[in-house]
Amino acid sequence: MSNIELICTYCHRVEVPNSKSLLCPSCRQVLIIKYPYQLIKERIDKKSFELGKGGIWKYFELLPIFDKSNIVSLGEGGTFLHRCKRLSDELKIKQILLKNETTNPTGAFTDRGVSVAISKAKEFGFYSVCCGTTGNIGASLAAYAAKAGLDCTIFIPSTVDLGKLYQMIAYGSKVEPAKDYDEARIKAERFAGSSFLIDPNNPYFLEGIKTTGYEICEQLGWRVPDKIIVPMGSGGHISMIWKAIKELFELGFLKDFNVELIGVQFEEAAPIATSFLNGKDYVEGTNRISKFLGDIGIKEPSLGSLAIRTLKESGGTAVILSYKEILEAMSLLAKTEGVFAEPAAASTIAGVKKLIERGSIDKDEEIVCVITGSGLKDPITARSFVGKVKSVDAIIRKMEEHKFTIKLGLTKMRILSLIHDSELHGYKIWKELSKRFNVNIKIPSVYQHLSELERAGLITRTHTERVLGKPSRWYYSLTAKGKRVLDTWKG
Ligand SMILES: [Zn+2]
Repeated sequence: MSNIELICTYCHRVEVPNSKSLLCPSCRQVLIIKYPYQLIKERIDKKSFELGKGGIWKYFELLPIFDKSNIVSLGEGGTFLHRCKRLSDELKIKQILLKNETTNPTGAFTDRGVSVAISKAKEFGFYSVCCGTTGNIGASLAAYAAKAGLDCTIFIPSTVDLGKLYQMIAYGSKVEPAKDYDEARIKAERFAGSSFLIDPNNPYFLEGIKTTGYEICEQLGWRVPDKIIVPMGSGGHISMIWKAIKELFELGFLKDFNVELIGVQFEEAAPIATSFLNGKDYVEGTNRISKFLGDIGIKEPSLGSLAIRTLKESGGTAVILSYKEILEAMSLLAKTEGVFAEPAAASTIAGVKKLIERGSIDKDEEIVCVITGSGLKDPITARSFVGKVKSVDAIIRKMEEHKFTIKLGLTKMRILSLIHDSELHGYKIWKELSKRFNVNIKIPSVYQHLSELERAGLITRTHTERVLGKPSRWYYSLTAKGKRVLDTWKG
């Protein structure tokens, strides 16, 4: 849709779309896109959406891309809205529904936003994109940049979830380390210029993630539920779902928008929820960041004040949760509904539970929980469940040893197999490597491998042998760990 304007969320300055204005030029606050709703109303109706193919692009008239040929899509959106009988029974409530965003192309709702923002990068004529991220948005960006053939540079803090990091690397983006999220964000802002910055504040990204709100209403037959529960990191998703609902009302697609938006945060870093619960209109930053849950543990959420406005306007509230509550919800959700959510996503279920306990949810209400991302993105948290199952723990340990052997490399595995046959010294190992495996490396390299294997606890020195006129030679043998690693390698 063309004829759009960007409005500053703070000073209300109006901008026309251009490749430079991603934040307000006056006050550096977030810009939100406004459409000519009267004009759009004449062009579309509910039927045109219902007949459209699945995914976010059926709402093209309400997205900020001018030319359809610029669309970069991997099939994002159109995710299921599950009715949860078993989970509802478990929580003794009439109706919980899940908006299951784990089935997006990279496993998270951020695909919606990145699809739109990358399409806009193409429309503006950029050849490269960048961002500073705690995770999901980076994984999405890497995938869509690959699809669009754009260069991609991502700055990441050390708290990034491993699964997301693997995705970024696999999709071929350049990954640059940063101390924390703030440094990652600043580095990305400095890098931007000839590269299009796609972060949680990018107005085109925000337009993409609002489609979660369109779909919930459409899937309910063009009406709103009683409550929608959303994890809050930067505060963008919840704010944009609210924007989507108000837009549908303005377009005449909804009779009312009586829905409470409820935001959940993790107690380690909950600046939006804390500020809201303290009656503030703006977010007071926190010095604490989450070591566990990067995506919802942001110190200074850029859309926090907009999120607080959303909670207030919709008559909703915020809930702060402990790590234990979130982990229990992850397990409950997976076991009752077959949906494996990442901790940030499962926090919505923990939020429902807490609100029921407090008597803040009526048992007859219809609640939609937005499950923002897949549990596979955070293998370390996922691993914590396995520890409780003894038989599985053994399998996982074996797999981890197998992974370890891949990391060790072939030469080291060959050295282990030589030492396994008999105790050997470095010079003999060097000769045998050449003779038996045709591995011709220099002697110092052999000693380098031996010292690394020794440090990894896979081999140990047994005794020395004196050779006339030369320094004495150390003999090496396998440790129990070395033998296990070798056995795993041999299968
Ligand atoms: Zn402004």
